[in-house]
Amino acid sequence: MTDLRYVNRGFGLERAVSERLAHDYRSALVDRMRAQGFRVDAGGVSFRLAREFGFCYGVDRAVEYAYETREKFPGRRIFLVGEIIHNPGVNRRLEEMGIRFLDGRENGASADGLRPDDVVILPAFGVPLTDMEDLRRRGVVLVDTTCGSVRNVWKSVENYARDGFTALLHGKYDHEETRATASRVLRHPGGRVIVVRDEEEARAVCDRIERRGDPEAFLRRFRRAVSPGFDPEVDLGRIGCANQTTMLSRESLAIADMVRAAMVRRWGSEEADRRFRAFDTVCSATQERQDALVDLLRVSPLDLMLVIGGYNSSNTTHLVEIARASVPSYHIRSADCLESPERLRHQPPGSREEAVAEGWLREGPVVVGLTAGASTPNVEIERVVRRVASFRGVALD
Ligand code: SF4
Repeated sequence: MTDLRYVNRGFGLERAVSERLAHDYRSALVDRMRAQGFRVDAGGVSFRLAREFGFCYGVDRAVEYAYETREKFPGRRIFLVGEIIHNPGVNRRLEEMGIRFLDGRENGASADGLRPDDVVILPAFGVPLTDMEDLRRRGVVLVDTTCGSVRNVWKSVENYARDGFTALLHGKYDHEETRATASRVLRHPGGRVIVVRDEEEARAVCDRIERRGDPEAFLRRFRRAVSPGFDPEVDLGRIGCANQTTMLSRESLAIADMVRAAMVRRWGSEEADRRFRAFDTVCSATQERQDALVDLLRVSPLDLMLVIGGYNSSNTTHLVEIARASVPSYHIRSADCLESPERLRHQPPGSREEAVAEGWLREGPVVVGLTAGASTPNVEIERVVRRVASFRGVALD
């Protein structure tokens, strides 16, 4: 029998919501850029857009399901457990549609106030199992938009846990997706997880595998990034690598290689084969956006790069990391960050604060590269292009 309290394939209302979605997020200007070789010129500024950018399949689906949910239940209270995706404009639009948040924000609500006839939407990056069980107990209708690529990571780490391997996740331990993934490991008796953010943290793990350094200092360093009761002396004996779907893929691969090499040094290559597994779980949408940006940087002589996306969007921050290795690059949340040709607000890599760049758009011919994270709608790219063009006195059609 169909579980009417749990829906994870939408409500079949695509046609009813498609016009509204197109109105809210599509851009005729971006469609035109795509048709004319991913570029447009205006007032001496030549814009070059990466060939893959913006909304991914998982975000498309999650946002569509949220609109379908509103359509399906016009009179019911609808909640999101937190941001559906990491884009402030999209979340604001959902709030305007009367969808409220359960994450404690101003004007938000709390799970304690939920009633059985309420509807709760789960985000594209999933929720921890305990949250899911809590919501099920409350008897609400759950609309689950968790992306299939995130579910694939869950399958990998659950296989590791079942087979007695500790899941070593390349990700950010406080990111919603990684918290949800880690919770999947813990549903298995003896399941263990450790989260490493970057190669530097992976090096510390390799040291422990090879019994170097102070075990207590290690545990202090990773106290928020390991499962309860984690014992590095035992739990680093069998390791399965996976990653948050939105990480820098070359870093994920490098980390898996480092860990494998440490296991070989510790155990010898034959035994290491039995004690080490790896599965690259960067999703194809993240990979395509990173590859397209690398191509753009390779073939176009850019003066600067604008990377558009929420400041808490993991895949967007990695696009910025790639871009800034080649050209001055700015992570902007929206067109509002472009205050004038002299002043631009942006989030520098590794910072949680906005900074101001002065004199970012020089006079004369300028080539501006553009890309957008997987949760950025095309309409935001259009706003950015129009705003830059307006600084040169041009109003684009
Ligand atoms: S970035 Fe990847 S995993 Fe995340 S929603 Fe998009 S397709 Fe799914």
